[in-house]
Order: sequence, then C-alpha cells, then structure tokens
Amino acid sequence: MEKYNEKYMSFMNRLIRLTHVEPFDHEPYKELIHEICEEYRLAKGVSEFYTTFMKEQRGEGEVYCDFDNGKAERVLLRLRIITSTKAVVIGTLYCAADDAERSAEEIDELDMMLRIIIGFVSRRRLVRVIEEFGFKDMDGFNNYRAFARYLDTENFENRLGGKIAFHIDLHNFTMVNQEIGREKGDLVIHRYYKKLLEAIGDNGVVSRLGGDKFIGLFDRTIKRNVYDVFSGVAITYDDENDKKIDVTSAAGVYMLPNPYAYRGPGDIMDKIMIASNTAKRQTEGSIVVYDDKMKSARNHIKKIRSDFRTALDNEEFAVYYQPKVNIENQEIIGAEALCRWVKDRTIIPPDDFIPILEMNTDICDLDFYMLEHVCADIRRWLDEGKEVVRVSVNLSRKHLVDVELLDHIISVVDKYKVPHEYIEVELTETTTDVLFSDLKRVVCGLQDQGIWTAVDDFGVGFSSLNLIRDIPWNVLKIDRSFVPKDDEAEDSVSNKMFKHVIALAYDLGIKCVIEGVETVDQLEVLRRNNCLVAQGYFFDRPLPLEEFESRLEQKCYNLSI
Ligand code: C2E
Ligand code: CA
Ligand code: CA
Repeated sequence: MEKYNEKYMSFMNRLIRLTHVEPFDHEPYKELIHEICEEYRLAKGVSEFYTTFMKEQRGEGEVYCDFDNGKAERVLLRLRIITSTKAVVIGTLYCAADDAERSAEEIDELDMMLRIIIGFVSRRRLVRVIEEFGFKDMDGFNNYRAFARYLDTENFENRLGGKIAFHIDLHNFTMVNQEIGREKGDLVIHRYYKKLLEAIGDNGVVSRLGGDKFIGLFDRTIKRNVYDVFSGVAITYDDENDKKIDVTSAAGVYMLPNPYAYRGPGDIMDKIMIASNTAKRQTEGSIVVYDDKMKSARNHIKKIRSDFRTALDNEEFAVYYQPKVNIENQEIIGAEALCRWVKDRTIIPPDDFIPILEMNTDICDLDFYMLEHVCADIRRWLDEGKEVVRVSVNLSRKHLVDVELLDHIISVVDKYKVPHEYIEVELTETTTDVLFSDLKRVVCGLQDQGIWTAVDDFGVGFSSLNLIRDIPWNVLKIDRSFVPKDDEAEDSVSNKMFKHVIALAYDLGIKCVIEGVETVDQLEVLRRNNCLVAQGYFFDRPLPLEEFESRLEQKCYNLSI
C-alpha cells in the first residue's frame, strides 16, 4: 500500500510537470501514459473533445488515444467535463473483461490522474479553438477579429501604408437565394470567398462580416486581380449540370496613405463602409474609392434622419402647390403638392431629403403628412366657397408593400370629407414583378374609390408599355426629358416616340400632363402633339399656399404665347 502510494505520487508529479511545461513534448508524455496504464492494468485510455454539445451529439470532435493494448472490453471509469466555454471533454478508461475488483483508493487515484489529463487536453484544444472561434465564424470564414489582428500586425511591422482596404456587398444576393435556393446560395458565397482568397493569397486578408458582406486588405501590387473578382466572376453552383451564376459586388475601397497613422480598425472600417454604401447606389460591379467628401454626405444623412421626427411634430414641412395648366386657354386645371422643409427659415428642397427618407419607411409618414395637409387645405377652400381643382400628392413606392395603404388613404380623405375626385395620387414605375402586382392592386383600389392615379416621371428609367397596358391609370405624367427638343428633326427617334406614346395614351383614355415646361418652344412641341396639359416654370414654380390661393382666384394665366 505504502509503495503503491509512492508510485501514484511519482506519476502525479511527472504528469503535472509534463502537462504544465511549454512547449509540450509528446514523447515523454506518451511513455508516462504507457507506464500508468500498465501499472494500473488498463487496456485502453481515450480522451474526446467537442467544441459544443451539438458537436458531441453528432460525434464531430477530436478523439485521442495514447494507449490501447487491444483488450479493452469494459469501461472502468468515465469522466465528462463541460468547460466554461461549453466545450465537452470526455475521458474514458477501459479494462479487460476479466478485470479483478478494484479498491476504492485505486479508482480514486485513476480518477485524479484522468482529471489532470482531460484538464490538459481541454486546455490544449481550447488554444486551437480560440483561434478557430476567435478568428473564424461558424461557417469557417475569417471574421472581423482576423481582419483587425492582421491590421495590427501589419502596422506593427510598418507595412500598412499604401495598402488597399475594402468592403464589398454582393449584388442582389437575396434574389440569388430565391432563385437557386439557400443551400446553393451558401455554396456560391463560399466559392466567391475562395476566389477572393486566391486572388489575395499571402498579400492580404479577407474576412466575412456575415451574410454576403466581406472586408479585407491587400497590397497594391495585386490590385488588378482583386478588382477583377469585385467586378464579377462566374461561380458554379451546380457541378453536375455545370450551372453558373455571375456574382458581382458593390465595392468600396480605401487607399491607405503612405505613411499611414493607424488608429485602430474603426477608422478604416468607417471609410470602406461609406464607400461601399455609395457603390451600392451605383450600377452593378462598381468600385468606389473613398474620399473625404463622402464622409460629409454621410453626416448629412445622419442629420436628416435624426431631425426628421421632431420636424414632423413641429410641422416644419410645408406644402407647395404647382399649377397644372390647360395650354389652350391657360386655365388652372389642377396642382401638384410638393414638399418643402422649412428649417431655421431656410428652405430645404426635397431632393436633399426625400431620397434619404426613402432609404427606410420615414418617407411614408411624410407622404401621409402631405396628404393630411392637402386634404385640410381643400376642405377649407370648399368651406370658403372657393373653386377647387384636383390636387395630386406623391406617394413613394415604399408604400406599396403596405396592405393597409388603401384604407389608410381613404380614411384620411374621408376624415376631411373631401370628395374623392379632388385627390390624385402620383406613383412612379417599379422594376420588379412583385412590386408591379402591388402597384396594380393599389391603383385599381384607388380607382374603385374614385381617387385619381397618375404614373409619375414617365419616360425616365424603365418605362414599359406594360405599365400603361396592364394598369388603368387616369394620367400619364411625362417627364421633361422625354419631350423632344424644338430643333429636333420631325422624324427623329425621340420625336416619333413622343408622338406615339401620346397617341397611345389618348387611345387608351389616359390623360397626359407634361412636366417641366419652361419655354414657349416647348409649348409649341406640346401643341403639335396634342398635349393639352403642362406643368412647369413657364407658368409657375411650386408656390407657397397663399400665392397658390391667389392664382386659383385668378383661375387663368394671361401670358402671351
Ligand atoms: P416630381 O414629383 O417629379 O416633381 C416635379 C419636380 O419638378 C418638382 O421638384 C418641381 O419643382 C420640378 N419642376 C417643375 N417644373 C419645372 C420646370 O419647369 N423645370 C424644372 N427644371 N423643374 C421643374 P421638387 O419640388 O424639387 O421635387 C423633386 C422631387 O421630390 C419630386 O419630383 C418628387 O419625386 C419628390 N417629392 C417632392 N415632394 C414629395 C412628397 O411629398 N412625397 C414624395 N414621396 N416625394 C416628393
Ligand atoms: Ca410627382
Ligand atoms: Ca415627375
């Protein structure tokens, strides 16, 4: 007994020394394990390591065995330990089938030694897991920390200056997922990442920020190769049938000055995000290089967003009215309500804030604010016995997905008891099929209620004839850019297109309003093409309420045309 204890003490001593000294030396450790196993008549010793419970269940872990004499038939002792990071470590000792009864002390000693061993295994494995968990995400991509660490080391070696940092966002990836399925979508992302890794190699780093967004840093010398991947590569998503998809990205890059005063990854992140957001608003495959002007643009966006709610509550938005005029008799036959933000006595034009409000659904609240004010004005005019014209309000496409949109509009109009035919809603065209059907639903619904509808900005962008064939609009608002110039030849393409679109609209019973008419010459073109209604600076700019009211009283312009 005495002797046995001494042996145990010496095993423990050696075990502790071997497992606590860096670097770890496997050979003497293995010898010791053999000695212990023989001394204690063990047949086999196994340790297992799983990073999570789930991996344990699936048997996806690492298994080590430093001793196995081939006679293991029965489990003698088994310990399962969960580390504070929720990793699972299991140690199992086996003996032969005819193993003699063991004393409690003997089991105790084995238990202690096994604890030291699995403690050691978990520590060693965890160092590797820290690398994996700390610098890789669940899908095995480098993560943000890997990027930050790379920046730190490059900076330490004085090699950061002159390098190129990037943030990319794959184009239309939600659509790709819808088209080819999520699983294949994931495969595409993995393969795209691999292409980036190949292009960058040892000259930089690529990390995934999650989803379809990547960041990284690379050397100027390989710029061409990397830019090629940003601009677009074909990725196979179905090996059997050799099916490929073109993956393009919106890339924002920042060229680090040389020398570069590094203040941590945050500053670089800011810049590449700003550039990539700008790229997102441009055409596919575009690469935008950061410059300081973009930063002020971003501050502007932030400011508009943070000021918007209070401005709405304080009624800082004013409705301006721009008359629509019958060019034959110069009579005002309608008006468009346009928004102005009156802030600290200056007027902010809509182009400075509407696109920002359209980035989220803030625009919807503004549009309803405008509708309320227009209805209130019309109500007042009616109550005062004035002659009233139909007023159009602009509705952003952002509303289209709102299934209660129709009810909401009607409830506002009815709240002010405004006859429906005095209200017109202007909507712009949409590019996707999903929105097209929403658009149709909304327009038909409004028509059923007697509210007028207009296609705004026709002729800009994606105008398709389906739009006027499949949806029963009342009005086509034709953008000034679609109107042919006066000096254009009669048989020029734009003259022909203009003529035929107008004729088609009339045939279908749709009225046309030409926007942005500024000159007598333009009026002449309109007349030639039988367009009767114009809206533009030639008659008036959008007017503040009182001025518009006095125009309405006059009813007609008296301009020499
Ligand atoms: P839009 O709906 O196409 O409005 C017509 C724009 O053309 C107005 O610009 C108007 O001032 C301008 N315009 C009118 N006549 C002429 C002309 O003869 N020459 C030129 N160069 N321009 C002319 P505005 O008021 O700055 O509005 C810009 C855009 O902002 C509008 O374009 C519309 O898309 C948006 N917007 C304005 N108010 C609202 C609103 O309440 N809700 C929504 N969703 N959008 C609005
Ligand atoms: Ca409009
Ligand atoms: Ca327009």
